[in-house]
Amino acid sequence: MATYKPGGPCYRCIYREAPPEGHIPTCSSAGVLGAIAGTMGAMQATEVVKEVLGIGESLSGKLVIYDALSVSFRTVRVPRDPGCPLCGDHPSITDLSGHGSTANVCG
Ligand SMILES: [Zn+2]
Repeated sequence: MATYKPGGPCYRCIYREAPPEGHIPTCSSAGVLGAIAGTMGAMQATEVVKEVLGIGESLSGKLVIYDALSVSFRTVRVPRDPGCPLCGDHPSITDLSGHGSTANVCG
């Protein structure tokens, strides 16, 4: 889980390329553990409230990794990549056409 804000790192800073079409199973074929979606959804909603109110510590520039099997959270820093094709100093992605599919996005 992360918060993406202008000036901070973007999704492409972490995952440079979208996976090839069909490489990752869709939620409809692999399934979704509803309790995990609920856990992450509640946390994301809390982050939105924090951002809107300007309170607390922002997750911008951080990635929260949740391991449900060990009931543990880990937060790692994610810097903005100056070579990022989307938000870098010389971006090559200027629109969303042809840069990955949303077919693997669950929800
Ligand atoms: Zn970026």
